[in-house]
Amino acid sequence: MSLVSCKECYREISSSAESCPHCGYVYGKRLSGTKAYLLLFAIMILVIFGLNMFGLL
Ligand SMILES: [Zn+2]
Repeated sequence: MSLVSCKECYREISSSAESCPHCGYVYGKRLSGTKAYLLLFAIMILVIFGLNMFGLL
């Protein structure tokens, strides 16, 4: 879980929140489960690749 900026008030909210607790802006389903999984997988690959670049693994 991570923090993202609200589209409406730009304050930090949970990336999994369905609505903004600050301004009440309601988010629809932004990503399907599959797309979210692929995005997470891509980020992991980038992180692992980055760590290898710096010789940390
Ligand atoms: Zn907001």
